[in-house]
Amino acid sequence: MRLSRLPLTTLKETPADAEVVSHQLMLRAGLIRMLAAGLYNWMPLGLKVVRKVETIVREEMDRSGAVELLMPAVQPAELWRESGRWEQYGPELLRLADRHQREFCFGPTHEEVITDIARRELKSYRQLPVNYYQIQTKFRDEIRPRFGVMRAREFVMKDAYSFHLDSASLDETYEAMRLAYCRIFDRLGLDYRYVRADSGAIGGALSHEFHVLADSGEDEIVYSEQSDYAANVEQAPAPAPQSPRPAPTQEIIEVDTPGQHTIEEVSRFLGTPPEQSVKTLIVRGEEDSSLVALILRGDHRLNAAKAAKLDGIRSPLYFADEAEVREKLGCPVGSLGPVDLDLPLYVDASAAVLSDFVCGANREGVHCTGVNWGRDANPDQVCDIRNLEDGEPSPDGSGPVRSARGIEVGHIFQLGDKYSQAMDCTVLDPDGKQRIVTMGCYGIGITRIVAAAIEQNHDEHGIIWPDAMAPFSVLLCPIGADRDAAVRDVAEILYRQCRELGIETLLDDRGLRPGVMFAEADLLGIPHRVVISPRTLEQEKLEYRHRRGRDESEEVPINGLAEFLGERITPR
Ligand code: ATP
Ligand code: MG
Repeated sequence: MRLSRLPLTTLKETPADAEVVSHQLMLRAGLIRMLAAGLYNWMPLGLKVVRKVETIVREEMDRSGAVELLMPAVQPAELWRESGRWEQYGPELLRLADRHQREFCFGPTHEEVITDIARRELKSYRQLPVNYYQIQTKFRDEIRPRFGVMRAREFVMKDAYSFHLDSASLDETYEAMRLAYCRIFDRLGLDYRYVRADSGAIGGALSHEFHVLADSGEDEIVYSEQSDYAANVEQAPAPAPQSPRPAPTQEIIEVDTPGQHTIEEVSRFLGTPPEQSVKTLIVRGEEDSSLVALILRGDHRLNAAKAAKLDGIRSPLYFADEAEVREKLGCPVGSLGPVDLDLPLYVDASAAVLSDFVCGANREGVHCTGVNWGRDANPDQVCDIRNLEDGEPSPDGSGPVRSARGIEVGHIFQLGDKYSQAMDCTVLDPDGKQRIVTMGCYGIGITRIVAAAIEQNHDEHGIIWPDAMAPFSVLLCPIGADRDAAVRDVAEILYRQCRELGIETLLDDRGLRPGVMFAEADLLGIPHRVVISPRTLEQEKLEYRHRRGRDESEEVPINGLAEFLGERITPR
């Protein structure tokens, strides 16, 4: 493509409202433009990248034996009533009514529609297993759309759904999908990990997530360096305390701690280590107005996913705000503690083995020291509600875990019969009996992958596309073409040659000054750059640079360029 034909507007300045580097660079490079919160236009260069990702995903899904179909984005409410999710799904579901006041939703996912297809189309076990997939636009009215297309409201997903007579068959397809996903992310050139996951609202048993590793990732994953243990921290069990609770040695004393609220402030003020104190967090109980106290050791972090799964606690977790705490409990959040607190106490196992600890006294500016369970307060439940931390023992006993941040780009679930049971999806089994089928589902965030790839592949000058995702492989940069016919001619010849070789080539024929042209080239991140300038043409040569090794250039003879590029690029 000729850049003169592409109305490309790049931005020199970093857009102020873009928090993460991928969002900043996608806006600066003109890949996307925002239409409204969480809604993005994919501009021509950006769309080319999306198509690259789709192609690889499609090739690997086809190779795995899955079959492509396409379901409507808009779905009738009746199906969601059948599965029970019309009531359950909450405000993320965009609900619509047509001119006859019939209710619909814009699909955030397609379990209901595919199960409806399956119950109509699949009659016999002989048709199983089958794995249907589509690449389709989803809408989720995310509470906090952010990071551009990373957490958008409208986005493109590849979703697949498999149907089986029994769980052994599901296991096989699940494993085939895991391998297909590995091939997809390998081919995309991304550094990723797959981890055991929490199957969240979709329900079901076994589930794995695929994460692209990046510091800006919203998820935390923990993994062992000695084994293949890897999990989303949401579902990684924290180690049980090694030793029982020591006997009390101190009396409970109230001390003034004016203006000290956080664990760090109080610890510094009293000269006690944070791990010798507890913190108290207030969340909603299952009944509307009820509150529950979560108690953790001072140096530990709450694991919201684990807490939300406990009986008696509202899921998803809902924190009481400062005003409600003051009104109902009479002090600021930072002054709370378990002593004489008239709420159910859910105490993390590590906090439950402390003795002589420090906590808030439920009065502003006062803390208690020498507090002991049994004598001064009693846990209603001892549970695991904290994160497994970097350096702690791996749940599989293989040594310490490391923790890293990840961007969830794929998710595979074993659904079991959750949807097939609710929607009565059966086939005739070999004995001639109707049997409820077993299902799996498998998602990949196509558009999120584009942002995740940039998080992992960029420098201070711009994007560095992995080869497989680059919108173009080669960028031809003629210098002074308006003044030098030789430059112009060579650029045109090379442009034609490259395209004949099947190499996707972008010709910068806009006549920009070299500095501006190169700055844009760096921003756009096309892997292979060829500079055609009067200086090197004198020696019948061209200058070549790879975007990754920006500062190293090589001179290549003009008539050797095709071969040179051919060795470095696989043609389409
Ligand atoms: P998250 O925890 O990030 O909200 P999810 O668990 O809701 O993800 P799934 O329902 O498993 O996501 O959807 C499959 C894939 O779709 C995800 O792995 C992710 O890559 C992508 N995805 C989900 N929500 C969004 C979104 N708001 N914007 C872009 N991609 C998304
Ligand atoms: Mg989500």
